[in-house]
Amino acid sequence: MVDNVEIPPTHPRYKSLIIREKLVEGFKAGYVVPQGLIAHGRGECFDYLIGEETAPFAKKAIDAAIAALLLAKHPVISVNGNVAALTPGEVVELANIIGARVEINLFYRTEDRVRKIAEILRKHGAQEVLGVDDATATIPELYSERRRVSPKGILVADVVLVPLEDGDRTEALRKMGKTVIAIDLNPFSRTARAANITIVDNIVRALPLMIERAKELKSKNREYLRSILDSYNNDAVLKEAIRYIAERLLKLSECGRVTLY
Ligand code: ATP
Ligand code: MG
Repeated sequence: MVDNVEIPPTHPRYKSLIIREKLVEGFKAGYVVPQGLIAHGRGECFDYLIGEETAPFAKKAIDAAIAALLLAKHPVISVNGNVAALTPGEVVELANIIGARVEINLFYRTEDRVRKIAEILRKHGAQEVLGVDDATATIPELYSERRRVSPKGILVADVVLVPLEDGDRTEALRKMGKTVIAIDLNPFSRTARAANITIVDNIVRALPLMIERAKELKSKNREYLRSILDSYNNDAVLKEAIRYIAERLLKLSECGRVTLY
């Protein structure tokens, strides 16, 4: 139900409309920023191009991401407004399985947004939320409020999962020597290119799959996890994503009809 308009589950774009509504609700509640809505639109466009399903290149990246998170000494999952609107429960569940800390880090930081996002995460079972009262450290080379981080979280993290992240911040975290895992539908974004591991998929599909893989890989030994990471090549995965989109579009352009109705 959206402003008294019911979206019928049979609507061809039902899932996509529900996601939009979650963001609009977050916007009305004051923790999603307008820039977050624009970013989502950019993501949706790329989701159309990959066919709105998890492709093989994303599955490869998910395996490598889980291996990296399980091997990490101090894994941290960074949360912003869009992530809190779309997948708060999944963030908490994944963090629990891999033993990661959860930290709120916002480009447009206000104490009100931080408090609201922390409340959502706690409502979804988070025992500890960093970046609320303890964002006392700063990371170099960032000029927005995102440079404020928790000394127990991102500052000391060796592996950081940054879903829906901005390019500047990804680059700054890389320069600090951290392994950065991004979830980003746009394989051309600076984030996608700067991250060590880029999951080119919608966060609403990627996180549940990450939870599934984390449960499976958790019982494996470190050598096995290391072998997954060693055989992973992010550059090749991004090229695969671009080729996948190109071939898909070519196929669509060659088939008899592209219209839906
Ligand atoms: P960059 O700064 O990395 O060059 P940008 O400025 O276009 O990219 P930002 O707003 O900084 O984008 O980051 C948001 C990114 O998140 C975008 O690349 C967008 O494609 C992606 N995105 C938005 N919604 C989703 C989603 N639901 N799942 C996955 N990715 C998404
Ligand atoms: Mg950006």
